[in-house]
Amino acid sequence: MTDKPRKVIPLADMRYASRIPPVPARLSAPTGLLSDTRGRPLRDLRISVTDRCNFRCNYCMPRDVFDKDYAFLPHSSLLSFEEITRLARIFVAHGVEKIRLTGGEPLLRKNLEVLIEMLAKLQTPEGRPLDITLTTNASLLAKKAQSLKDAGLQRVTVSLDGLDDAIFRRMNDVDFPVAEVLKGIEVAQNVGLAPVKINMVVKRGTNDTEILPMARHFRHSGAVLRFIEYMDVGASNGWRMDEVLPSAQVVERLNAEFPLTVVDPNYAGETAERWRYADGAGEIGVISSVTQAFCSDCNRARLSTEGKLFLCLFANQGHDFRALLRGDYADDQIAAAVGLIWQARGDRYSELRAALPADAGIVDGARRVEMSYIGG
Ligand code: SAM
Ligand code: SF4
Ligand code: SF4
Repeated sequence: MTDKPRKVIPLADMRYASRIPPVPARLSAPTGLLSDTRGRPLRDLRISVTDRCNFRCNYCMPRDVFDKDYAFLPHSSLLSFEEITRLARIFVAHGVEKIRLTGGEPLLRKNLEVLIEMLAKLQTPEGRPLDITLTTNASLLAKKAQSLKDAGLQRVTVSLDGLDDAIFRRMNDVDFPVAEVLKGIEVAQNVGLAPVKINMVVKRGTNDTEILPMARHFRHSGAVLRFIEYMDVGASNGWRMDEVLPSAQVVERLNAEFPLTVVDPNYAGETAERWRYADGAGEIGVISSVTQAFCSDCNRARLSTEGKLFLCLFANQGHDFRALLRGDYADDQIAAAVGLIWQARGDRYSELRAALPADAGIVDGARRVEMSYIGG
């Protein structure tokens, strides 16, 4: 019997495009004051704990690419919890204050609570606890919210692209019902993983009819609904500019029914522009990654499931820290390598794309890693 020929998926190759971080001969201890070539500090680390997901959202893991032949990473490739915590400690020494666990679907990673407990013990150089959050599709949230909270998780962000069951089932492409996501949100709020943030990716012509129903539903709920522009991440989702609904239009539609007033950012580098309902029903946010680049404040680094460090969501090459972790390197050497890499960072993909004509497509047509691999 001959094996069925395996489908060749070029984007899988992008996961292997990485370099071994250079370790400087002269080591200097982290000061917490790193700055890249554009003067941006390092404050936020997003850690992908799995590249697998039980959804097939068409803007992220389209089913025809992420099918039964897709080669997800073997378990031995994944960073262990000890390795993640060791790296996280080094990043915290360099100034990271916030850690977001993501994926793939992070709640699919077995015993994630153990990792959260380990991360929750880390402190900033000033002795403050870290801000630890998680982004999830909420399919397992009702079951896990209490144990996540007990482990030290502070908040969750839940992705939900609409309230209309048919639209949502079509977008997640695994026939997952809205009701179970809403249940997960409710349980998370009840156990104190609050305020829950709700992320809705808006695709013009697919779910923009859900903007107002979502707003009506989450007003007065304490949850903060955030509308995200559909982004050209990865290379598999067939992104087109005409499917992006600019956040300005989202705000316009909302404002017509519920007057809004703008709110000051919580901190420099915040991705969402904040708005408040004038009648006191709560807050919403818009994340305009396509129409209003926020690269100038971007203080985020991303660690892939197998320990590659990416300096931008749109990077096409990572720095292989697993090689250092599993090689004979001490913490101060790894810390020095992180320092060198951040100091050389100049990434500003969205700014460059914004400078192109609207119909130009993605910058230079480059192939890039997938969001499910490096995490959102
Ligand atoms: N599976 C989890 C979830 O969906 O919340 C965590 C990982 S997911 C990659 C993180 C976030 O990225 C989600 O809120 C998702 O909606 C967002 N996302 C994925 N692809 C996107 C795209 N093309 N444009 C905008 N946001 C996207
Ligand atoms: Fe899975 Fe999240 Fe990507 Fe949807 S957005 S396919 S839930 S990783
Ligand atoms: Fe940061 Fe890159 Fe996004 Fe710009 S495009 S905000 S540098 S992740």
